Amino acid sequence: MTSDSLDGMSVHTLGTGGGPIVSSSRAGTSTAVRVDGATYLFDCGMGSIRNYRRHAGWGDLRGVFLTHHHSDHIYDLGSYLSTGWQVPGESFSAPINVFGPGKPERIPALDGDHERALTAQLNGRSMSSTTDIVDSLLDKVFASDIAIRMADEKRTEPHEWIRAHNIEIPDAAAADAVDNRHPEMEPFVVFSDELVTISAILVDHRLCFPAFGFRIDSKYGSVAISGDTAYSTNCMKLAHNVDLLLHEVIDLPGILSTFPDGPTRDGIEVHLRESHTSYMDVGQVARLSGAKSLVLHHVVPNTPGAADLAAMLSTVRKDYDREVMIAEDNDVYRISPRETAIGEAVAHNSGAVEVTV
Ligand SMILES: [Zn+2]
Repeated sequence: MTSDSLDGMSVHTLGTGGGPIVSSSRAGTSTAVRVDGATYLFDCGMGSIRNYRRHAGWGDLRGVFLTHHHSDHIYDLGSYLSTGWQVPGESFSAPINVFGPGKPERIPALDGDHERALTAQLNGRSMSSTTDIVDSLLDKVFASDIAIRMADEKRTEPHEWIRAHNIEIPDAAAADAVDNRHPEMEPFVVFSDELVTISAILVDHRLCFPAFGFRIDSKYGSVAISGDTAYSTNCMKLAHNVDLLLHEVIDLPGILSTFPDGPTRDGIEVHLRESHTSYMDVGQVARLSGAKSLVLHHVVPNTPGAADLAAMLSTVRKDYDREVMIAEDNDVYRISPRETAIGEAVAHNSGAVEVTV
């Protein structure tokens, strides 16, 4: 079933919670961008696949784009790929392209000493690429299921339907997993078809390298998705004058209050400070990028009532005088060629929030 068959461009927040936490109110981070009935999926957070079916069908999914390989952004990847391949009567209508980070040449680390310490600590573990992950899902994790369905249900080779690609970072960026994880660079095109051009840029997610933000341009307008990132000048370039910037946000005091004192909390605090964007800073990112509207997602903490959403909004509005909203799951933001301000949301969680930018 496709709930939205109208022409145009729209952003559907399938999952708006950040972090590897199961929340009763927010699925993990995942966003569908729809253009003239085609669907482009950005990240596959836990539980988001259930919401996907409220907004789109398998036959109109054209591509999956992974910002990075943290688990809370890829938990449901196997669900999307195996389900889209095997649902009787409504499977993929054409091969699905999956784009995401490649394997870094070095273990991402703060410096050379840290790199050596991590290498010893990892017990031979390596980083994986997007093609590694997809191959593992199809050839190992779901190997039995796929073999049985091919034999029993006459299903065809899944690799013919699912094509994985590692995003190649332009050499000119001189990116490096230790020495230059967030180089100053320009957005570069990773995918295009007759409806959209999708560009990427490296953002700053500390030791999770490479990590990308994506921008989607169509004849109707433009959307930028920050991915997980600390305050990033590259993200501002990506979102230059964009119609809608969908940016991650954290309430640092809010999430830290959920952990007991101790070294784990101290480590998490460093990770959060240096990997994510506080609501104190995200308004400035939007203002400096020239984004025409701002929607916050990847809300951390994502358990009901744990993040101070009112403080987020009032703080962001001090730095950014255009429209700003905090997304909930199943919101829909419609992009229009008309340059009007964001309208009032009808209601959250109705599955029918319509906002015009
Ligand atoms: Zn992350």
